[in-house]
Amino acid sequence: MRSTPKKMSEEDNRWLKALFEMATDGIVTISLQGIIENVNLAVCELFGYKREELCGQKVKMLMGNHDRMYHDEYLERYQRTREPHIIGIGREVTGRRKNGEEFPLRLAISEVKLDDQIIYLGMLHDLTDYKRAQERVAQLNSELETKVQDRTATLRRREKELQQALGKERELNELKSRFLSMASHEFKTPLSTILSSVELIEHYREAQQERKREKHIGRIKDAVNQLIDVLNDFLSLSKLEQGKVEVSPRVTDLRSIISTSVESSEGQLKEGQHVVLDLAPEPGLIMTDAKLLRHVLVNLISNAAKYSSPGMGITIASGRRGKDFFISIIDQGIGIPAEDQAYLFDRFFRARNVENVKGTGLGLNIVSHYVQLLGGKIEFTSEVDSGSTFTIVLPAIIDK
Ligand code: ADP
Repeated sequence: MRSTPKKMSEEDNRWLKALFEMATDGIVTISLQGIIENVNLAVCELFGYKREELCGQKVKMLMGNHDRMYHDEYLERYQRTREPHIIGIGREVTGRRKNGEEFPLRLAISEVKLDDQIIYLGMLHDLTDYKRAQERVAQLNSELETKVQDRTATLRRREKELQQALGKERELNELKSRFLSMASHEFKTPLSTILSSVELIEHYREAQQERKREKHIGRIKDAVNQLIDVLNDFLSLSKLEQGKVEVSPRVTDLRSIISTSVESSEGQLKEGQHVVLDLAPEPGLIMTDAKLLRHVLVNLISNAAKYSSPGMGITIASGRRGKDFFISIIDQGIGIPAEDQAYLFDRFFRARNVENVKGTGLGLNIVSHYVQLLGGKIEFTSEVDSGSTFTIVLPAIIDK
């Protein structure tokens, strides 16, 4: 509405008035000085004023705090620079109702040149509902985003759990097959020895065949002992699994535990093998579970003997390492290939160079659990064809 017809008929005038009055958006006309000249019904309804309360007042009374403060300055600047900030552009401002309530408003201002004066015409559109809808959309969007994130996290967690379960299942299956191949081998060999020796004994009925019979009875005893060893390993393992291995610490002399362990291992030594003790002279009183520690030592001494040639020496060294005790079992046997060393304490694991030697691959696994129960740690160094040293380090007192 940049220009107004010079002369309007009575009817035009009425029509324009009705248009002005009945428009759903608010319309306000103001003077160059920002004084309200006229407002339509929508403005009165929107702001809660009567028409007479508005006409003649500064339009800034309809504005929110911020715009109200700067309004005079806006008008003055525009008249000086003719640089529009709002005129002909329209923008969002804050309106202020009679009751002080502020609300969002779209304000478009046009400059209207009349015959003898310039007025500003403001169109006001209430943005409350639009803003509310916009906020609701933003809220819904952010809720949706949170839901998507939650769902993604749940899915990821499920996937991880599933993978873990699958991994466990695979591990169990692998353990099962390793167990079956070990068990069939470890049972089959002694059982066939027993069978063939029994069959032979049946044939040696003559009195002068006594020595032959005794040889085979000896073989049967060895085979039965082997079977008992394997079964004992299974038993220890299942007790460990069920948390049934009890630790009863008592003050004991470490040297006496070592010498009784050596005595118990004597049956495992090959011909000419001998144990050399290199024990520190000071009293080695330790608070530990002698039974478990003996089991560990017997196992390590048996391995040292099993994986060394006849006639080789095995050294047991012991002493203090700071506050702790150490016991090393040193052999000059076949050693452990570097590639296998990382898996040595895994259940059923046997290195690639021991195929001809009997074993379950359970001993070191059980040993490492026992050492852990005793509050200690186990370490080793080894070189193929030179030998191995297994060392356990134990605290002087088990901290239960
Ligand atoms: P097993 O002796 O019944 O096979 P262990 O769990 O006691 O089972 O040992 C696991 C593997 O570690 C053995 O199969 C062997 O390869 C290796 N090993 C253990 N001790 C020694 C040792 N003193 N010298 C060489 N290899 C050893």
